[in-house]
Amino acid sequence: MTGIKKLNENMEHKTWMCLICGWMYDETTGVPEDGIAAGTLWTDVPMNWVCPECGARKEDFEMVTI
Ligand SMILES: [Zn+2]
Repeated sequence: MTGIKKLNENMEHKTWMCLICGWMYDETTGVPEDGIAAGTLWTDVPMNWVCPECGARKEDFEMVTI
């Protein structure tokens, strides 16, 4: 009997919020219309990516826990 762990069980999905406009980035959904595939971790989002709502940069986002 071996317990096979799914990768997902060890990964907390995180949500990041734009401090300027309140727009939320969810790692599980990404921003497909913006070229960010579902499941893209925040750290893997390109540095030059900006908030689709207000144009804020990644440094203007803060991690939130729901
Ligand atoms: Zn924003």
